Amino acid sequence: MRHVWNRERRRRPMRIGVHRYAVSIIARPDDDPAEIDTIRNTVEVIEVAVPSVRAVLLIHEALHGLLDDSGLDVSETMEERIVRALAPRIAAFLKDNPAAVRELLRMLR
Ligand SMILES: [Zn+2]
Repeated sequence: MRHVWNRERRRRPMRIGVHRYAVSIIARPDDDPAEIDTIRNTVEVIEVAVPSVRAVLLIHEALHGLLDDSGLDVSETMEERIVRALAPRIAAFLKDNPAAVRELLRMLR
């Protein structure tokens, strides 16, 4: 059975460092298509986006969380530039290299 987050509207966990985030695919009320809250440990991604866009949005927000967790002192502008540059490339890397991703996951068990 295919798993669809947005139909189930269930929160799924995502770990960033020692923190566990609740990920929701929802109808967001404003124009911001995604958001991470590093205080409440939540990530929301708009449900109307096509799956590949949702994937990039989720990676985008995860990168914000990773940078926050890293403690690096980068300006908001620079952080956004880094995240926007990397998110679609990481998504493409994951999609284009399934064997390498499987091997990486096997090595990290
Ligand atoms: Zn951002």
